[in-house]
Amino acid sequence: MQMIEYKNKNKFDNDFIYSNQWISLTNKTTLNEKINIGAQLDKKASGGQISHINVQSNFKNFEQAWDLTNHIANKGLIYFAYNSKINVCEDGHGFNPITDVGLENNICHCGKPMIDQFSKVVGFLTPRSAYSKERKKEFDNRQWFNLIE
Ligand SMILES: [Zn+2]
Repeated sequence: MQMIEYKNKNKFDNDFIYSNQWISLTNKTTLNEKINIGAQLDKKASGGQISHINVQSNFKNFEQAWDLTNHIANKGLIYFAYNSKINVCEDGHGFNPITDVGLENNICHCGKPMIDQFSKVVGFLTPRSAYSKERKKEFDNRQWFNLIE
């Protein structure tokens, strides 16, 4: 079972990548499962791991962000961070096709296509174009939670 990933390695093709997640970023789970399992395991550790809450889009509003952050903290998840994808066009504009209404097929407000995406890997925003082939495969298989539904 590939659920607990901390200090373990994930196999992508014939190579392995390491992670600092309790639950694999590619593991299909619910947001509440991720929070509850992470909270239980965070009580047993003193750091070195973080639960990335991968969100497909921005929060709807401040209240949604406040409520979810308080929910996570009240459940006991100590080490967590929100992570999203930032699409970037040829001219360097950042956009999100889900929350930026009217954008389709990864076309920016300016009409130029998306040429890269930025997201966190081990806590740092980095461009997908710079990922190793194993990381790209992991990134393309990540689970993203939809806050808009
Ligand atoms: Zn643009």
